[in-house]
Amino acid sequence: MSNKELEMLRDRIDELNLEILEKINERANLVQKIAQTKVTHGAHRYDPVRERKMLDDILAKNDGPFDNATIAHLFKQIFKAGLQLQQEDDSKALLVSRKKKPEDTIVDIRGTKIGDGAPKFVFGPCSVESYEQVAKVAESVKAKGLTLLRGGAFKPRTSPYDFQGLGVEGLKILKRVADEYDLRVISEIVSPQHIEEALDYIDVIQIGARNMQNFELLKAAGSVKKPILLKRGLAATIEEFINAAEYIISQGNDQIILCERGIRTYERATRNTLDISAVPILKQETHLPVFVDVTHSTGRKDLLLPCAKAALAIGADGVMAEVHPDPAVALSDSAQQMDIPQFDEFYKSILESPYVRA
Ligand code: PEP
Ligand code: MN
Repeated sequence: MSNKELEMLRDRIDELNLEILEKINERANLVQKIAQTKVTHGAHRYDPVRERKMLDDILAKNDGPFDNATIAHLFKQIFKAGLQLQQEDDSKALLVSRKKKPEDTIVDIRGTKIGDGAPKFVFGPCSVESYEQVAKVAESVKAKGLTLLRGGAFKPRTSPYDFQGLGVEGLKILKRVADEYDLRVISEIVSPQHIEEALDYIDVIQIGARNMQNFELLKAAGSVKKPILLKRGLAATIEEFINAAEYIISQGNDQIILCERGIRTYERATRNTLDISAVPILKQETHLPVFVDVTHSTGRKDLLLPCAKAALAIGADGVMAEVHPDPAVALSDSAQQMDIPQFDEFYKSILESPYVRA
């Protein structure tokens, strides 16, 4: 073959490349168009029967030089890329996505605004144990000019023999303390049937890490008019976390605070591994405010302050930490809760950090 002929063949290959490019993009455009009608009809994106038929039709026409297995493989890649394109379109269309709504969502907890640019704090015991116990923490929270108090009434414990919380009795204690100290209270609800009941007692419904993918609970939380604090699952990816929030917002409730609380890794130095980079990712990908729970992520009192500072420095809208008047006798998470003097010291140091304008 002469050099000239070789060059011509290469030119033809270049042309064919561009034709293939044009064709696969033309195909992608059609795929997107079909995807849009499928959304309006609520149909499944992936259609194996249709894919099988397309492959069979193609292979029936194949006279080589590629064998059928190679052609099937190549077209499978094209089909897969089309499906991925649809999925990307899906995530752009998520109601929680920043692409859908560029401006920040501000969660309004009876006047306390989460996500308005000023960091907010949630302190309180792991579990509600008694009126006196909660009131002591409330007093200390109030004295700092803070408005948010936490306390678990329904405790999802690893062991069924551990303290399970006071249940509705605990919610009643929180309500009494909230009224007396003019605070807003956050408490975890673990079952859809308690969502309605909880509305009378608490200001924010927390959905805990162990329930992040309890879809019936998420739907129930989405159907009420009450702010939700959604914690990231123990082993949930950011995408799964965002989709859990989507379950809530898709039912009509956009008052959602996302809370990074550490994920399970092989590291044993901390109780969980605080995924600090999740904060800016969640802020970029969604319009929802983001909190960091420094207690459950670290499980270590010596790390509460540096991690809280890191959280605020990286753009978190607030920090959660556990405080108990006498952690040594706490019925849950005894080792990791601050006592009141430690709480005072912690909060004083936080206020001195450059990321907080009180
Ligand atoms: C809690 O905040 O009380 C709690 C149990 O946390 P998590 O669900 O993140 O483990
Ligand atoms: Mn706890």
